Amino acid sequence: MTLSSHRRFPFIVYAVKRNHKEVSGRSLLTGSLAPHDMETVIRGCTVRLVVGDITQQDVDAVVNAANRTLLGGGGVDGAIHRAAGPELLEACRHIREQVLGGRYLETARPVITPGFRLPARHVIHVVGPICGSDPDPEGNLRAAYARSLALAVEHRLASVAFPSISTGAFGCPVEWAAPVAMDTVVSFAESAGSGEPVTATGLQEIRMVLFSQRDYEVYQQALQARLTRGPKAGG
Ligand code: ADP
Repeated sequence: MTLSSHRRFPFIVYAVKRNHKEVSGRSLLTGSLAPHDMETVIRGCTVRLVVGDITQQDVDAVVNAANRTLLGGGGVDGAIHRAAGPELLEACRHIREQVLGGRYLETARPVITPGFRLPARHVIHVVGPICGSDPDPEGNLRAAYARSLALAVEHRLASVAFPSISTGAFGCPVEWAAPVAMDTVVSFAESAGSGEPVTATGLQEIRMVLFSQRDYEVYQQALQARLTRGPKAGG
């Protein structure tokens, strides 16, 4: 990160000791991080990495790595549907029929439903790129994160938790996806108050929920690299 970008995007990276209490998306910075959790505050928005289960997150919205049918599947999608209960499937069916006219949900075009029995108040369903067949996996992975965040801001949500989109059944290597995800998330947080059409204004926390310690470490490295390097030239 250059000196000028450091001035423009001040950040603090720190870790807080565990006290076994889940952090609520509404009451931030209460000192409840696990020993290895990492967080950085960017223009008032906390970007946090945790090892955990997306279905257990007490946030305004969790993001579902959905499949195109919007009617449930394996991985994150299956876990979210099981935890949220059958009302979620009904809500997804309604969107599929009434909003999408029966068509598949397009890649990186998120939709939002209530969270029903989840601790999260809402679910943002987004389809990530399939590595190996998507013509623009990087552009679509960026768009999946950025448009999900924009939808959260549009709904005046304060906290959003993401899984590692596209790195399960959709076959993208986590070492490739993590830098793309972290660059997009940090750039979005940096947009607060910038005068861009969609900014992070009002968003207090973006949480990445990694399902394994290994994935966590890859994301941690990617976040640290992005904070050190600053935004990509021209990006
Ligand atoms: P995609 O189809 O977008 O690849 P998957 O659901 O198959 O999505 O997997 C995305 C990532 O989420 C993988 O790294 C997988 O290990 C992880 N994952 C699976 N279940 C959960 C869960 N309950 N909470 C958080 N992450 C999960």
